[in-house]
Amino acid sequence: MRLDLPKSVKDILEKFDKAGYEIYIVGGAVRDILMGRNTNDWDFTTNATPDNILKVIPGGLYNNQFGTVFTDNPDNPSRPHEITTFRTEAEYEDFRHPNKIAWGKNLEEDLSRRDFTINALALGKDLKVIDPFKGRADLEDKLIRAVRDPNERFSEDALRMLRAVRIAGELVFTIEEKTFEAIKKNAPLINKIAKERIKEELFKILSSPSPYEGVVILRSSGLMQEILPELEKCFGVEQKSPGRHHIYDVGTHLLMSLKFCKSKDPITRFATLIHDIGKPQTYKKLANGTITFYNHEMVSTKIAVNIADRLRFSKKERDKFVSLVRWHQFTVDERQTNSAIRRFLRNVGLSNVEDMLSLRVADRLGGGARETSWRLEEFKKRLIEVQREPFSIRDLKIDGNDVMEELNLKPGPKVGEILEKIFKEVEDKKINNEKEDLLKRLRTNFPKS
Ligand code: ATP
Ligand code: MG
Repeated sequence: MRLDLPKSVKDILEKFDKAGYEIYIVGGAVRDILMGRNTNDWDFTTNATPDNILKVIPGGLYNNQFGTVFTDNPDNPSRPHEITTFRTEAEYEDFRHPNKIAWGKNLEEDLSRRDFTINALALGKDLKVIDPFKGRADLEDKLIRAVRDPNERFSEDALRMLRAVRIAGELVFTIEEKTFEAIKKNAPLINKIAKERIKEELFKILSSPSPYEGVVILRSSGLMQEILPELEKCFGVEQKSPGRHHIYDVGTHLLMSLKFCKSKDPITRFATLIHDIGKPQTYKKLANGTITFYNHEMVSTKIAVNIADRLRFSKKERDKFVSLVRWHQFTVDERQTNSAIRRFLRNVGLSNVEDMLSLRVADRLGGGARETSWRLEEFKKRLIEVQREPFSIRDLKIDGNDVMEELNLKPGPKVGEILEKIFKEVEDKKINNEKEDLLKRLRTNFPKS
């Protein structure tokens, strides 16, 4: 076991001990220490009431909604230490928030209201592990097991089901059988939980080192049907056609794409997971056996908008998510013009181009194709090239004055129109962006007034 606790953590343990209170490290930190992992998130539980916690930690900040005192964590300033009085939980009215927070009598009572045995471990000042629910054995066996009766615990707080999936994905653990059965049975209760909370857990699943595993568990638990029914519908939708490369049904292809997605960004991973989500609605099988999904990216985009709104994405998250889905069918045809490539850059947004390419590569790999093709490689080169070239009329080596002088024109809309035409020719590489060339073009192609 790792015994070198950070100084600020040791200080808290010592101060409470000196003041005559019990204090324990609880939750994820104990789990991580026992697994030999580093941790930067520290939660404490104590028999001191909030008033008394503040006497021991005078600089602490009390949040009475959670009954928790926060104090600085120098090793991880964005995640202060959290010190909470022993709690017990009374009745629940909305599957998430207990009707009232009540103080617990002792540590055991506090641990018994926690969700899973591996999260119901405590570490005292003497570094002895307190483990009333055999969490250490489950940690050894890599099992997520509800504390006490899983059906009761999930009907008290339905978010716990999604936490089980998320933690199983993050740690690559298995959900113990009875706990898993209870999730399958109670899955519809997840709809009672605030969408913000669901989004938060879903993003954690997608941000973990193995998002694919997390999403597979999400599906087998029955929670996907509740949270992302549009994705569940993609499974079993065949897309194999004579002479075409698809080897999987739509749902499996989406999962495999996620598995191969190189981006770590949860939005990009999410977009990869749903990029073809409109296919079931656009499915058509022709007489020769060919399957088509005409216009599927538009339908997928609509569904992406619905998902983003339903899960309360921020505007920035929503814009990126939707545009990755909207443009995922981009063409890499070597014959396309520079202006077409530029349009692609404008549509996707410069800052999203890299993730758009990650989605494309994942899409290819997730469909059984090779990682790249010469066309895709050429396209990537051209993306860089066109960005070095003039991007707008202002980058032209001539301006309105040159046009007026050369063609004897008065100021007016005509000047702009001519510049526009010249710019288009430069963009399409018909002429060079050199002053002499451009002036010559003006003289030969536009009538002098
Ligand atoms: P991580 O911080 O890595 O996400 P964690 O287990 O520390 O994992 P937190 O959300 O920080 O998760 O919660 C801290 C502890 O509070 C948990 O370990 C668990 O004991 C308890 N807990 C959190 N949410 C619930 C819940 N919905 N029901 C019961 N106990 C919970
Ligand atoms: Mg934590």
